[in-house]
Amino acid sequence: MDKNTKDLVDKGIMLPLMEEFYTIQGEGAHTGTAAYFIRVGGCDVGCHWCDVKESWNAELHPPTLADTIVDNVKKYAETVVITGGEPLMWSMDYITDLLQKNNIRTHIETSGAYSFSGKWNWFCLSPKKTKMPLAECYPEADELKMIIHNTSDFAFAEQEAAKVGAKCQLYLQPEWSKKEKMTALIVDYVMKNPKWKISLQTHKYLNIP
Ligand code: SF4
Repeated sequence: MDKNTKDLVDKGIMLPLMEEFYTIQGEGAHTGTAAYFIRVGGCDVGCHWCDVKESWNAELHPPTLADTIVDNVKKYAETVVITGGEPLMWSMDYITDLLQKNNIRTHIETSGAYSFSGKWNWFCLSPKKTKMPLAECYPEADELKMIIHNTSDFAFAEQEAAKVGAKCQLYLQPEWSKKEKMTALIVDYVMKNPKWKISLQTHKYLNIP
C-alpha cells in the first residue's frame, strides 16, 4: 500500500472493503428489514467459530473510497449496516458522517474491541471473550447481542448485560454450528429471564447473504 493510500485509510476516507450487498437484516432487533451491508476487512478478535474468517486479513481487501461506497448505497437503501471483520479497527467518522448527510441510517455490528468512532443510529455490541470491548463502547450500545456457543456463555452474557445502559435491548443468539442444542437452551433461558430475547440468524434459514 502506498503512503497516500495508507494516509486515506488511516483517516477513514478509504476502507478495506471485503464486500457490499443489499439484503435483509437477518439478526437482532432489526430482523426482517432491508439494509445495505458493508463488510469491512480486518479482525484480530479470533472467534474460533467465526463464519467470515476470510475477512480477518485486511490486506486482502482493496482500500476503497468511502465516497464510492456511499454512492453505491444511495442507489439502493435507506439503512446501512457496517460489519466486518471488526469495523472499529478503522475510523468510522468520515463514512458515517457522509451517510447521515445523505439521510441514510447508520447501523454497526461490532465486538467493541477498538476505540469508538462514527455517528450511529444503531450500535449493536457483540462482546467476545477473546478480545473484550473497551469500556467506552458499552454506554453506546442500543443492542447487546451475545453469541451462545456453549453453556458457560450464559454467565458471560449476564456479565456483559450488567455493563450496558438501560436503553439497550438484550439478545441471545445461538452460534450456527450449535444451533439445535443452543436454541433449545436459549428458549428455556429467555422464558426464565425475560429481559432477554432470542435472535436467530434468519438469513441463513432463508438462504440469503
Ligand atoms: S469478531 Fe466477528 S469477524 Fe472477528 S473473529 Fe469474531 S465473529 Fe469473526
